[in-house]
Amino acid sequence: MNYQKSKVIDKVKAAVWAIQLAWKIDKRILVFWFGISIFLSIIPALILLSNRHIISHITSYISTGRGDILDIVPSFILLGGLLILFGLSKRLNSDFLYMVMYDSYYLGFQELIIDKMQKIDLQILFDKDTRDEYIAVISRAGSLTDFISAMCTLAAKCASMVSLLVVAFNYSTVIFIISILFILVSLIVNAKFVEKVRLNMARIRENERMLKYYGSLPLDLGIAKEIRIFDTKNDIIDQWTRAYHKVREQQKGRFLGENIRALVSGVGYYLFSLIVILHAVNQVAYYGMTTDIFLLLFMLCQNVSTALANMISSIGAMDYGLFSLERQLRFLQSVAEIPAGPPLLPSSVATTRIFEMQDVSFAYKPGVLVLKDINLQIHQGEIIALVGHNGSGKSTLIKLLIGQYRPGKGTIRFLGHPYEEYGYDYLKNQIGVFFQKHYQFHASIHHNVGFGDISRIDDLASIEDALIKGGAKSIVDRLPYGMESWLGRDVDENGVVLSGGEKQRIAVARTHMSCKDVIIFDEPASALDPIAEMEQFYNIKNKIKGKTAILISHRIGFARLADRIIVLDKGRIVENGRHEELIDQNGLYSYLFKQQAKWYKK
Ligand code: ADP
Repeated sequence: MNYQKSKVIDKVKAAVWAIQLAWKIDKRILVFWFGISIFLSIIPALILLSNRHIISHITSYISTGRGDILDIVPSFILLGGLLILFGLSKRLNSDFLYMVMYDSYYLGFQELIIDKMQKIDLQILFDKDTRDEYIAVISRAGSLTDFISAMCTLAAKCASMVSLLVVAFNYSTVIFIISILFILVSLIVNAKFVEKVRLNMARIRENERMLKYYGSLPLDLGIAKEIRIFDTKNDIIDQWTRAYHKVREQQKGRFLGENIRALVSGVGYYLFSLIVILHAVNQVAYYGMTTDIFLLLFMLCQNVSTALANMISSIGAMDYGLFSLERQLRFLQSVAEIPAGPPLLPSSVATTRIFEMQDVSFAYKPGVLVLKDINLQIHQGEIIALVGHNGSGKSTLIKLLIGQYRPGKGTIRFLGHPYEEYGYDYLKNQIGVFFQKHYQFHASIHHNVGFGDISRIDDLASIEDALIKGGAKSIVDRLPYGMESWLGRDVDENGVVLSGGEKQRIAVARTHMSCKDVIIFDEPASALDPIAEMEQFYNIKNKIKGKTAILISHRIGFARLADRIIVLDKGRIVENGRHEELIDQNGLYSYLFKQQAKWYKK
């Protein structure tokens, strides 16, 4: 993490962006909060004036005995109203409005980041630094609320301070000047402190994340099992203790710093009050200042100090919010989005060539080619088996075919048109994929499968059909709540825990649910036993008749079902043909097939 001091220009940019963003997400709450904060901010000055009026009336009555004491009743009522409003305003500002704003801005901001994530070029998102940055950015989704609420508080406190200074100016130019000097000196002294506190807080947060990570390990039963098996308990406790002490040390440092600041502020406030009182006493003694004015100035000191303390703490909160916002803005601006591309298929499609790769090469890291000079064509209705050793580039080739990655060299075409003409969104809607690393959502089976086509998520007949195609119907049939059974126990303690193979079948059903004419299965049966694997591949072949499909498996037997087999070795296509042809060629496919067959024969 970068703890360098940020430039003023970056802070200004982040602040402008945050205000624009808040305006876009919910302008009503911004205007409302801003307005109400400013309105409430002048109450302290009104209380002072009202107080002064009452005191003046009472002192005049006591010293002269003239007038009607009951005349001050309306002023008392006014003062009571102002005091109630003042007390309420504190709660309103700090609790209620923050909560309302949080609902809008936290959710709005998170939506923005998630939306961005969907548009980020996956090649970039899979880069570790980008991913780390993404996680850091989304974990501080509350920064917009922090910043905007602190900004409103600061604006309100500034308004409050101005109204108090106007009162001071009205009654004593000297006290007005002393107050201005006190405010300036305090702000300058605290400005240095704010940056320090923010850097400290960022460091503490990072170590807290580490502490949280170690603290969460025993909660994960899978990890707890590993810890027990490999006897790593002491090491984990060690790491946890170290992280704990680090956080504690940093927190102690922070508390110490804050206490020193409170001490300095206290001394400053004391000196300020002393000067104001001495001046006022002098005015009372030699220049005829009346008691009401004296008391007004005395209370003014307290109000100025309170408003100043609030201003300083909201500057700190704003600065801390800005620290995250700067980083978030930098991330959002620096990460390229996938061009949307034309939404519809170009009209001139007159080919049966679904995929075509021409001289395609690809590298994840510069200089390390994972795919080399790939030339291939896949025609409509063909079932292709993609085989090769682990790491030969099969999954990477699939990622290029579905448009997740762009080739460093060469051209890929879908239905005769280069990918640049479609954009990722279009391709995504044409090609159904089962990923080797699939995900089980904490939701019902119904939804886990329905997510394959969100527009038909409640079409139970289609979901049942997809479950049959994925070989998962028998799982559903034995569960008491059938399709509505919840998967996983993290959220619902009555949820069902499926085996690896069962999860895989549900995920295969989800891919069938997507109902695309072109469909890719990357290891759809790796978690199944050999017999179930065979059934799964037969099932897939029968259920996708007429569609174009690419199948991948590390167990080679399935390839006999395909119309054509493409063999990859170290990123190159080394063989391409039917099962019998490749066996006759006696190359890599024949070798792999015979080796695996030998194993089963033995
Ligand atoms: P296969 O599917 O045939 O097992 P892959 O396409 O997954 O092979 O991987 C091909 C090569 O690319 C491997 O050497 C693998 O380590 C590397 N690779 C895969 N994904 C990434 C990635 N995201 N970043 C860097 N290298 C990767």
